[in-house]
Amino acid sequence: MTFELIHLPYASDALGSVISQKTVAFHHGKHLATYVSNLNNLITGTEFENADLETIVKKSEGGIFNNAGQILNHNLYFLQFSPVAVVDKPAGKLAQMIDVQFGSFANFQKEFEMAGTSLFGSGWVWLSAGIDGTLKITKEVNAGNPLRNGDKPLLCFDVWEHAYYLDYQNRRADHIKGLWAIIDWNVVEGRL
Ligand code: MN
Repeated sequence: MTFELIHLPYASDALGSVISQKTVAFHHGKHLATYVSNLNNLITGTEFENADLETIVKKSEGGIFNNAGQILNHNLYFLQFSPVAVVDKPAGKLAQMIDVQFGSFANFQKEFEMAGTSLFGSGWVWLSAGIDGTLKITKEVNAGNPLRNGDKPLLCFDVWEHAYYLDYQNRRADHIKGLWAIIDWNVVEGRL
């Protein structure tokens, strides 16, 4: 199948000081668009030509995996943001699971931030749900996604430098802290 660049459900300048218009424009319009175009070229004539994105992410390796993984990761990333924080923390079932697993929402945030700042090089921090319903925070290098381990991805922070360098330069930790303000927890909980 031919993959397409996702449409953002908000204006490119809507994420304000957390992610600038310039970063959204490059990150979505250039980086993500390139992964989409690369994947469409790479899968032509292969066993993945008619596969859906999740299947490709689970089963491919090398260049096909790198581009498919980055498309899936960025789709989850960009669609979890809301310009106006509808709710500033999870509610319902997800909130309960976070309390059980991490003690409190504040402690979960602390552990998530620590994973993001300590990831060496390029990659992603994930909150995912295991098949037994337990939550996990994991660090994945490059295009990694918890789907590869059979877990369900819920929330992700992109810690590749292209995600924050225009706005924060080397201050990855500050960028990570800022992201909480634009997470739409209804979207995250909907992925459970
Ligand atoms: Mn990125």
